[in-house]
Amino acid sequence: MSIAKLLTLFLIVKGSIADEADWSYENPDDWKTNYPDCGGENQSPIDLVENDTIQFGALDLDWKNYEKLPKSVKAVNIGRSVQLDMEWNEDEIPSITSSLFDGEYVFAHYNFHWGANDDSGSEHTFDGHSFPFEGHMIHYKKDYGSYDEAIEKKDGLVAIAALGRFPDEDEDSKKVVLQSITPHIDDIKEVGGSAVIDPFPLTDFHVVYSGTDFVSYNGSMTFPKCSEVVTWIVAVDKFAMPKDQVEKLRSIKLAQGDDHNNRPVQPLNGRDVFQLNVKWYDNSSRPYVTSKILNDDYIFYHLHFRWGANDKEGSDHTLNGKRSDISKIKKVNDSKEIKVFPLSLFDVIKKENSWATYNGSFTEPDCAEVVTWILSLDIYSTTSKQLIALRSVELSHHEDHNNRPTQLLNKRSVIIYK
Ligand SMILES: [Zn+2]
Repeated sequence: MSIAKLLTLFLIVKGSIADEADWSYENPDDWKTNYPDCGGENQSPIDLVENDTIQFGALDLDWKNYEKLPKSVKAVNIGRSVQLDMEWNEDEIPSITSSLFDGEYVFAHYNFHWGANDDSGSEHTFDGHSFPFEGHMIHYKKDYGSYDEAIEKKDGLVAIAALGRFPDEDEDSKKVVLQSITPHIDDIKEVGGSAVIDPFPLTDFHVVYSGTDFVSYNGSMTFPKCSEVVTWIVAVDKFAMPKDQVEKLRSIKLAQGDDHNNRPVQPLNGRDVFQLNVKWYDNSSRPYVTSKILNDDYIFYHLHFRWGANDKEGSDHTLNGKRSDISKIKKVNDSKEIKVFPLSLFDVIKKENSWATYNGSFTEPDCAEVVTWILSLDIYSTTSKQLIALRSVELSHHEDHNNRPTQLLNKRSVIIYK
């Protein structure tokens, strides 16, 4: 080996050790001494205050390839966190686009943040509250070719963050990504340790396709050199993360003997924080209708039920009570995830029925006149038992029905299709 080569090797080794050795989570206020960006005006994380967010409207987060199984997944203890490095076939690498940012952002890696105890761990906080865990899906701008190039550019990274909370009592702990990692914890306990994990798709991170709202702002990487190159997109819903798994994370040794790797929140300094209501996260995969009576495609948004106070009145909407377990949604704002089923199970979709159509309005305030109504003229059967179950659902103001009386036709025409 030539002396020049040896010297290069020495410098590289020295360089990487220096990176790990000159900052610690014990004194984050000192980072700016060696890394001036850490004292910048647009730093992350921040406290996300719901009342101070700006409504951005529907966010069109378009997740591409997140359901694709990677060829390999490796967990590495990189000293400041555990990082998941994942590899896909060239044409299957997950990427995200949105009107929130320009261009396509390619998935780079995932990393974890945790605290020394149950009271902290997340980097971002919500209205001052910390959570025990935070995971970051880091993406770089495809135009820049690589993560290393992108972190030098102002719009280099998009980070999608999801915070973990402990499950409520009797809450099903869904499959969480930590479950894939924790069996390998001994292999990644020491800095530099790594483990090959059974491949799993990124959709295992609940944040993908979850339908949660997000908040977004411009910020920085949360560790030195704190480059201000990140569009942050933070899930508002917190995901259930079993306590024993978070405890296993805490057994991982970090550089400098740190017992946590969450940076304290930084000043907002007047930055805008946007609230993004995800209505359709993937337009292409949502059902839609098109017809010669409509000028465009209409994308399915949601389905709701109307009913009356007794058997003589109520809605004539199709009710498929068999498939909804309403015992858990008795109170206003209750919700329950139900078994997945296709919309074709609602009889109205596949039948050769007759239809009536007219231009009308929402049947509840604000009664906006923006609706093309298409009503099936076939009346579907439901059972009294199912109706009784619906009537047991509590409505706001304790009403016993939610069907509006019929309104005047005025000069509108109703078209019948047989
Ligand atoms: Zn991170």
